[in-house]
Amino acid sequence: MPASALIVEDENEIADLVKFHLERDGMQVSVARNGRKAIEMVQGAGYDLIVLDLMLPDLDGLEICRRLKGQDRTKEIPVVMLTARGEESDIVAGLEMGADDYVTKPFSPRVLMARLRNALRKTGATEPTERISLVNGRLLIDRERHVVTVDGQTIELTVTEFGILHFLALRPGFVRTRDQIISAVHGRNTVLSSRTVDVHVTAVRRKLGALGECVQTVRGVGYRFRDPNDLTE
Ligand code: CA
Repeated sequence: MPASALIVEDENEIADLVKFHLERDGMQVSVARNGRKAIEMVQGAGYDLIVLDLMLPDLDGLEICRRLKGQDRTKEIPVVMLTARGEESDIVAGLEMGADDYVTKPFSPRVLMARLRNALRKTGATEPTERISLVNGRLLIDRERHVVTVDGQTIELTVTEFGILHFLALRPGFVRTRDQIISAVHGRNTVLSSRTVDVHVTAVRRKLGALGECVQTVRGVGYRFRDPNDLTE
């Protein structure tokens, strides 16, 4: 059965463009032009992917995301937000509600499809949490043994630095907000602050040496490990 996607977007041109590319990828695509319709459609059918515009005429895209991620039936469906430049605080809010990724308008179809395929791949995939190999094997992260090597050389990371690198490396190309990093590394009762996350990231970059630039800053949003296909905007 082909994968199915729901596009929630009130601008016809954008909805048609996204639909065209998803259908060319062999997906079954439905479109909701407003938020209430989207909620109704999601209740009635199981989708494998939701492409969610944040600016809708009735319900706010963030509100839709909150509802989807708050219900057992729908919380596992990958959500990719469509956003405009300057909506960084909404992007942060959406990611922290559980949205998987976002694409900024105007987007190139190549970037859009790479992001959507990545988000879709999450479904059913087992994440290789124990050992991660990145940058063609130049960076190896062994969670069990708590060892990181760059080009065969072991590098010394503190527990926090290791936790941050491991968290970002789990899903290359996907942005994590500072709050998500804090929760992942230290749980909810943390002494880490947003500013100290920045300090730790700087240390990780320095220790990674030639691969330091793989840990990228996404201004106003957070950090990510470089996309292996370099399809980040
Ligand atoms: Ca819109």
